[in-house]
Amino acid sequence: MAELNPFKIAQQQLKIAADKLGLSQEMYDFLSIPMRELHVSIPVKMDNGKTKVFQGFRVQYNDALGPNKGGIRWHPEETIDTVRALSAWMTWKCAVVNIPLGGGKGGIICNPKELSEGEKERLARGYIRAINYFIGPEKDIPAPDVYTTPQIMSWMMDEFSKLRGYYSPGVITGKPIINGGSQGRGDATARGGVYTVREAAKILNIDLKGCTVAVQGYGNAGYFAAKIMTEEMGAKVVAVTDSKGGIYCEDGLDPEAVKKFKAETSSVINFPGSKPISNEEILELKCDVLFPSALENVLTDKNAGNVKAKISCELANGPTTPEADEILYKNGVFVIPDFLANAGGVTVSYFEWVQNIHGNVWTAEEVRPKLDNKMTLAFHDVYNMSKKHGVHMRTAAYLVAVQRVADAVKIRGWI
Ligand code: GLU
Repeated sequence: MAELNPFKIAQQQLKIAADKLGLSQEMYDFLSIPMRELHVSIPVKMDNGKTKVFQGFRVQYNDALGPNKGGIRWHPEETIDTVRALSAWMTWKCAVVNIPLGGGKGGIICNPKELSEGEKERLARGYIRAINYFIGPEKDIPAPDVYTTPQIMSWMMDEFSKLRGYYSPGVITGKPIINGGSQGRGDATARGGVYTVREAAKILNIDLKGCTVAVQGYGNAGYFAAKIMTEEMGAKVVAVTDSKGGIYCEDGLDPEAVKKFKAETSSVINFPGSKPISNEEILELKCDVLFPSALENVLTDKNAGNVKAKISCELANGPTTPEADEILYKNGVFVIPDFLANAGGVTVSYFEWVQNIHGNVWTAEEVRPKLDNKMTLAFHDVYNMSKKHGVHMRTAAYLVAVQRVADAVKIRGWI
């Protein structure tokens, strides 16, 4: 059975790029492990009066290009290796879209579905108290990720500001607008992904108007991908899933109605007028564009051969294993790899941080073309690299990103 440790996978992917770029052994050694990591324990007073101790991490993978940047995940199966992998991917993500930030990631092992609002707030504040000297607007800037929300970012920003004694919105991004959040951050991950799909469709001669779309994972990224593909590209979303199961409708689903239904019932399943579809089936569904938008390792050597989509736009981090990559490439599935496809989130986070530092407020009309510009340039940098070296888009994205980070490491005199 293939190794599914995400950090091993991240190192394996880096090795392929490092060899192709002819990086020195010491450069590979440096780039293949995090520069720093912090493990913390967070005691939280629960609603029942007892104290529960949670375990958390913050990994700063590489800051050659700028302060570390990356989200915080709250997940029951969080592991330090997952956080390490995600922090590596953040490093390549910031580099591929050419923003002056390094890569980081945080995580807390917890099940947010079992926590009350008060418990979540105390956990968020406890985590910031535990890591506050490790982060800061010039050092390491967290953001939302799986199961963390703008509200959680707001509590975290508030705790950090209290500890410092001054308002410090630049310490964290993905905040509510009223607390220094940016216009356009909410749908940025999906919007950035859709811009890359638009560019890929031009190359592949696919008309997005009327094309069929499947979305695996109906969280923030998946929902907005469905909405933007429908409303702005004229596509038809035929299937979506969430952690409990999924729905299929040949005539197309209304993304807004599905979201409302999920908010009321806690899942998309049993949406009126739909047929059930599983999380496994949706990946193999005949459609034009597939958005894997949930968690890691869903496309493996077991099912990659059955993928029928023409484009797989990875809004999730790490959904495809290296073995699956080769199979998809051989079968002509055009993969827009995670750290390119979902870089829109961190790109608008970067805009948010810039606004916070300068005390600026940009409109949505200012943010969107800036995001489009970054994503379109990054897509074509990667696509041109893939043509130049005859490699798939993931390796090409690594070639672009790793070269930029390695250049910064070298010119700073570290190696
Ligand atoms: N968590 C998001 C990601 O994986 C966003 C990170 C950020 O905005 O810093 O890209």
